Amino acid sequence: RAKELGRNTYQFFTRAMSLETQRRVDLEIKLRGAATAGQLQLVYQPKVSLENGGISGCEALLRWHHPELGIVSPEHFIPIAEDSGLIVPIGDWVLRTACMQARAWMDAGLPPVCVAVNVSTRQFLQQDVVAWVTRTLRETGLPAARLELELTESLIARDIEKVTATIDQLKDIGVKLSIDDFGTGYSSLNYLKRFRVDTLKIDQSFVRNMLTEMEDETIVLAVIALAHNLKFKVIAEGVETEQHSRFLCSNGCDEIQGHYFSEPVTAEAFETMLRAGKHLS
Ligand code: C2E
Ligand code: MG
Ligand code: MG
Ligand code: MG
Repeated sequence: RAKELGRNTYQFFTRAMSLETQRRVDLEIKLRGAATAGQLQLVYQPKVSLENGGISGCEALLRWHHPELGIVSPEHFIPIAEDSGLIVPIGDWVLRTACMQARAWMDAGLPPVCVAVNVSTRQFLQQDVVAWVTRTLRETGLPAARLELELTESLIARDIEKVTATIDQLKDIGVKLSIDDFGTGYSSLNYLKRFRVDTLKIDQSFVRNMLTEMEDETIVLAVIALAHNLKFKVIAEGVETEQHSRFLCSNGCDEIQGHYFSEPVTAEAFETMLRAGKHLS
């Protein structure tokens, strides 16, 4: 009986595995041609200052429009891009496109904003990040201070000396750095103080429940205090309601990002918001 059950479980397991593997291989093949087929797009989500209510910057978020699959979420395809190495050419497309866009906004005389680009840990470790960023800034003509790179805490678990040195070099060029999804990964606070980053981004999982769950409120308040004590700015992501915004404002959070102010929008729509001087009401 147990043997039979074992075999069935095994067969079920391999079948499930191969379906999952097939799905990944299939997505990887489709993803390989996505950039050249013009299926990739960046959308931009405003970051808003709680000090003056104005737009201080935006985060570029990747969208993949596949003719049959429709819109594929980055949560599905970024891991595949990382495993297959496709993250390098795709990440290059993202950085170049975001920098070109920010330069175009500058040239159009719009209020100054900083554009943030996500750089995953695999991506950070797979190439000479400093040379890549320097070259892209030069080729697109974007001043370094207008670019922010969003890194994640999992970098702290890697070759710490090398990561710290790379972060120092990026700061020396003049780009801004933030730690994304803060609180969800390994936070060695001892290493954190050695990272010359500008901003901590409180993960949306804490923000979502901070008004109803004591633990989440405690974490949000602790991250705000930690950031300020280490001389970092702090931004909350996933801010969906006015109550969220008010709570964060009265507790000294510097900026917010989330559906409450705006969902991620096309470059044109973001430009319209900037022009209109959209403010937190
Ligand atoms: P992230 O960098 O933490 O981005 C924030 C995510 O939260 C985005 O999801 C955004 O659309 C979503 N979001 C914003 N406001 C709200 C809100 O009020 N409520 C809720 N529930 N969600 C909100 P998205 O665009 O699906 O991206 C998911 C993740 O994929 C990103 O998380 C980032 O880790 C990764 N990603 C996206 N674009 C890129 C990219 O160009 N390169 C790399 N390496 N990763 C990317
Ligand atoms: Mg991010
Ligand atoms: Mg995040
Ligand atoms: Mg996230």
